Amino acid sequence: MIRSTLATLALMGALSPAYSYDPQSLGKDAAWVEEQSDRIASQATGLADNLWNWAEMGYQETRSSAAIQEHLQEAGFSVETGIGDIPTAFVASYKQGRGGPVIGLLAEMDALPGVAQHAVPEYSPIEGQAAGHACGHHLFGAGSTAAAIMLSRWLEETGTPGEIRLYGTPAEEGGSGKVYMVRAGAFEGTDVVLQWHPGDRNAALPTSSLANRSAKFRFKGVASHAAAAPERGRSALDGVEAMNFMVNMLREHVPDSTRIHYVITDGGMAPNVVPAQAEVFYYVRDNTAADLEPVWERVEQIARAAAQGTGTSVEWEIIHGNHSLLPNQVLNRLLDASMRQFGGIEYSKSEEKFARSLDGLASKPGRMIGDQKKIVDYDPSEAPSPGSTDVGDVSWNVPTGGFATATWVPGTSAHTWQAVAAGGTSIGHKGMLLAAETLALAGIQLLREPGLVEQATREFERKRGDDFEYAPLLGDREPPLDYRK
Ligand SMILES: [Zn+2]
Ligand SMILES: [Zn+2]
Repeated sequence: MIRSTLATLALMGALSPAYSYDPQSLGKDAAWVEEQSDRIASQATGLADNLWNWAEMGYQETRSSAAIQEHLQEAGFSVETGIGDIPTAFVASYKQGRGGPVIGLLAEMDALPGVAQHAVPEYSPIEGQAAGHACGHHLFGAGSTAAAIMLSRWLEETGTPGEIRLYGTPAEEGGSGKVYMVRAGAFEGTDVVLQWHPGDRNAALPTSSLANRSAKFRFKGVASHAAAAPERGRSALDGVEAMNFMVNMLREHVPDSTRIHYVITDGGMAPNVVPAQAEVFYYVRDNTAADLEPVWERVEQIARAAAQGTGTSVEWEIIHGNHSLLPNQVLNRLLDASMRQFGGIEYSKSEEKFARSLDGLASKPGRMIGDQKKIVDYDPSEAPSPGSTDVGDVSWNVPTGGFATATWVPGTSAHTWQAVAAGGTSIGHKGMLLAAETLALAGIQLLREPGLVEQATREFERKRGDDFEYAPLLGDREPPLDYRK
């Protein structure tokens, strides 16, 4: 009974009327932001285009990171690099006066291997280029940088106390860069974080994401001639196969929300040699870290049992881990209201032509060409999206709000050549500038009204719970700086 009353109260808290924004002052600030945005647009799109051309992969974003830092230094930010022992991770800070909110913005920058594509609407890989910006992180990095610069100018012009921290966050794609930055304490003292992601529609929905953890399980056996002396061999591949067999049985006895995937990364070299070593790479995902842990323990137990039963031994290395995303309605409603001040995206004639001739788009309601003009209706349901992101770890440490803009043609999936192509055109630029403006306008409201920051913090603390203790899912491992080499 008490439980259900508490649950009802919590629900009421989640639905309680958000801070009401004065439309007149929001409109005035939006006009200021638009003017600033016009002034720095060519600088921001130039930075994005450079990042797009360099297309540097996780932890190798040397030029991209340096270029972003340079822009911020020119705007008066001070920069600290090498955060969490990652050469390309940095925090750029602009501080004015004493006190006031400390607002963090995230700036990703890594590209994906295997999807280098020219900025044209048909499949046209760039020969000899290893990677491409198929997740739009060049726009993410340059757009957030533009927003940070606009916010620093607003602080300066108005004399308001506060601080802007731009986090240069490398290796989002499988490298969990932000987790090492969180672990190193880089987000301590930051009051709220605003972030965005390139997408194929404009939406500030408070969606969650899945927690995940990955590990490579390495089995060791004894090599032998597979025909002449099989009794002297112990197959490491048997260990891998026994593990996979038991995990596949486990699937029936886990919650519906659990996802487990694996690939065999080493299965031996020749059938006539009993494999002395073999490796299988596992991912486990679930709604939250707390849901994931008990399943993960069972997978580890299976690995031990598989080794025991096959006369082999096993060790495993945690590769990466991300917490789920903890949504914040106060911040998301603010981002939604901010984005609506600017409206959706209008294509020029040539952009419309590019969009209509782009091959391979999904055609589904809400994601058709023309829908980039709209902003998706706010939906407070906090539905989990099926992916995972290292923003999750940030969101369990600092109240975090996020959104997406249509940097890609509606119907485009992330991690495709179509995303790379549009990201290298003015379509990508327009989505990026809408994101920069939205971040800047929301940031101004937080700087103007520290009560909003308090409100976001209260929601964050209530959702996290009193006894929450943050532990990175990747444990104490070092950043895998060479994982894309
Ligand atoms: Zn991605
Ligand atoms: Zn991404």
